[in-house]
Amino acid sequence: MPALACCVDGAVSPHPYAFATWDSVLPDYPPSNTVTAAAWSPAHSAVLYRVDGWGAPYFTVNSNGNVSVRPYGVDTLAHQEIDLLKVVKKASDPVTSGGLGLQFPLVVRFPDVLKNRLESLQSAFNFAIASQGYDAHYQGVYPVKCNQDKFVVEDIVKFGSPFRFGLEAGSKPELLLAMSCLCNGSPDALLVCNGFKDVEYISLALVARKLHLNTVIVLEQEEELDILIEVSKKLGVRPIIGVRAKLRTKHSGHFGSTSGEKGKFGLTTTQILRVVKKLQQYEMLDCLQLLHFHIGSQIPSTSLLADGVGEAAQIYCELVRLGACMKVIDIGGGLGIDYDGSKSQDSDISVGYSLQDYASAVVEAVRLVCDRKGVRHPVICSESGRAIVSHHSILVFQAVSTSSREISSPGLFVQHLADDALSDYRNLSAAAISNDYESCLIYAEQLKQRCVDQFKEGLLGMEQLAAVDSLCELVLKAIGISDQIRTDHVNLSIFTSIPDFWGIGQLFPIIPIHRLDEKPAVRAILSDLTCDSDGKIDKFIGGESSLPLHELEGNGNVDGGAYYLGMFLGGAYEEALGGFHNLFGGPSVVRVLQSDGPHSFAVTRAVLGPSCGDVLRVMQHEPEIMFQTLKHRLEEICDDDNGISSLAILNGLACSFNNMPYLGGNNNGHCYYCTNGDYAGAAEEEQ
Ligand SMILES: *Cc1c(COP(=O)(O)O)cnc(C)c1O
Repeated sequence: MPALACCVDGAVSPHPYAFATWDSVLPDYPPSNTVTAAAWSPAHSAVLYRVDGWGAPYFTVNSNGNVSVRPYGVDTLAHQEIDLLKVVKKASDPVTSGGLGLQFPLVVRFPDVLKNRLESLQSAFNFAIASQGYDAHYQGVYPVKCNQDKFVVEDIVKFGSPFRFGLEAGSKPELLLAMSCLCNGSPDALLVCNGFKDVEYISLALVARKLHLNTVIVLEQEEELDILIEVSKKLGVRPIIGVRAKLRTKHSGHFGSTSGEKGKFGLTTTQILRVVKKLQQYEMLDCLQLLHFHIGSQIPSTSLLADGVGEAAQIYCELVRLGACMKVIDIGGGLGIDYDGSKSQDSDISVGYSLQDYASAVVEAVRLVCDRKGVRHPVICSESGRAIVSHHSILVFQAVSTSSREISSPGLFVQHLADDALSDYRNLSAAAISNDYESCLIYAEQLKQRCVDQFKEGLLGMEQLAAVDSLCELVLKAIGISDQIRTDHVNLSIFTSIPDFWGIGQLFPIIPIHRLDEKPAVRAILSDLTCDSDGKIDKFIGGESSLPLHELEGNGNVDGGAYYLGMFLGGAYEEALGGFHNLFGGPSVVRVLQSDGPHSFAVTRAVLGPSCGDVLRVMQHEPEIMFQTLKHRLEEICDDDNGISSLAILNGLACSFNNMPYLGGNNNGHCYYCTNGDYAGAAEEEQ
């Protein structure tokens, strides 16, 4: 018998939906609503969470119900899968039990996925070029702004070296890192310098050229040309110059606001003509060799792409006609990612084309225009960032507790109620007895409001107010309309780790990385650690406003009950954009390679995330001085006879400066005396 019957005098039978099962909550997912918990399989989870849609060819659900990573993509043998849960356990288990003792949140990087992305992009262009008889090659650059992590950039330079893959920089520090990384790259790789430039930026780029890097300075603003002419004369370096064209083609999605005639970047037709003229004056027109444009990120369709590339190819041909020594057409970024797996071109988070469709559309658009104009086919360069790095890293975090409320017994409170509230209570009872659910709702709501008012007047105690809350919740639950959505706290800051969700509402696939052989029993939204009402995730791929999840065992905090969620496809932009809201810092990071045995992996690098001291330093605080201040205060008070010793307090304080700002969770609540340890080559794990 539902609780309603015992709390409101008299009996009431439950509403038909009183104990709504999972099945009735999930009408949108075809297989799940007919599958019982007993018959649930990992394959059902794969469908439920759309893993095949957004995850192929790198992510699957394995027979143990865990997420598996296929670092080499789809064409690999099954034994080359890595069980993500095993990696997470290895990284987070205490050192004393053979783990690496890292705290969450944790970024797991797979360099082999990066390699596969690069190779897939290159072969898509190679195929388009060969099959269309295109008379020049493709060589891409990686825009480092998408993820400037040292190991990511170094991996890309190394893996891309066989096919002349280069880098793109948009600021002075990015240029510095690109210069030093490309010293180990292919001698033919391009270093494309975009972004707004001053004398120092241009000088650096010219120095890069002196160092025999294929540096192209792309004019983003007309004024940059005067600086360039002057500085290159001074340094005695003949530059390679590109121009960024402001296209008329406009991409109307979220990421397209910088495109089109009114866009933020690039030179107008008039400005390009003036640049040509000036270069001619200075006898430098032969330096102009590259045309650049960028339609915007996440280009939704190949028709828009072909439109923009076609327009740019016309400009390219015009520059050839005007006497520039053109060699390269640089089509910018924008190769999109299908975050929700829907293959739709009408959404900011999906795209309706494959890598091959993209490459073929580009090659065809350039070829058609150049053939018509009798212009030699240019080298095609692209600056795909999102498409290269999104897949390679997974953000793993824990759900640590839920706010699903225990409804306490409403108890007796009637005697304290004012008359109007009392009559609501009586009406509620009567409605409950006659199964009149609509009236139940109305009276419950009314009763609650009156009690809140009474409380504000000081006429009702906290116990009574709590009792009314409980009663109303019981009523709602018994008639089956209580909100079924659980709020799970996650050990994460959205502002730091998923800033694009906060900033622009960008969605990423988020799923449990284990227990996928169990049927999810609840729906939940995720609430982060920050003291900010925006610190929650309540929108998910597939248009969902909650996420199917499992019951937390032991409140998620007790050993063995940890519940791990993964955010996928966040390898681009999220790491560099994230801020320090509430002084939460970056995640711990492991780098994982496939190793020789079947299903085995090696953690080749493990780094604890920034400590409390590290993030305090970002805001100009000085942890060492702070520690000394607290130590002096402690010495002044010197009260060692009572309870904990001063030494223990000092140790504890030191630990707190050294620990990460996130919740310790089950394994990591103990004290650390070390941060940022480099466990290079530490672990080799067999499944
Ligand atoms: C951001 C940016 C890119 C990368 O775009 P993606 O959509 O991530 O591929 C490339 N070129 C320029 C000029 C950019 O500003």
